Amino acid sequence: MEWTDDSIARLRSLWAEGLSTAEIGRRLNISKNAVVGKAHRLNLPARPSPIRRSTGETAPRPVAPKRTQGPTLPPLSASVSQPVPVLRAIMPAPKPQQPRATPCCWPIGEPGKPSFHFCNAAAVSGKPYCEDHAAIAYVRVRDKREDVA
Ligand SMILES: [Zn+2]
Repeated sequence: MEWTDDSIARLRSLWAEGLSTAEIGRRLNISKNAVVGKAHRLNLPARPSPIRRSTGETAPRPVAPKRTQGPTLPPLSASVSQPVPVLRAIMPAPKPQQPRATPCCWPIGEPGKPSFHFCNAAAVSGKPYCEDHAAIAYVRVRDKREDVA
């Protein structure tokens, strides 16, 4: 017996119909053993008893999946009210122990002299200087770099 695409297709078809291996062999004009061996090599699914199940083929599934616990989308209202955590994930959160109002530590005057003091104005959030001094500081940094270059 030489298996051709056609005969293999017929075997698959008859196998799917639930015919016995002996019956399939008769129809393909081959031995029952040849049918069993080929079906095994084709990884055809083991069939239930040919007496019943030809119509149903409903093996009861052990556990029905619980859809409520699956990765479902949150309700629209929830997704709308929570854009902030996404931003927090990108920007590092400030340390909670940090005092809320940080004074500007911009030095005024010359160090060592009695007139020397810090600005002490309310610093810009996340920066060590007040708004005016922060602007000056960043301008100076840029100027220095240009001087170097
Ligand atoms: Zn300042």
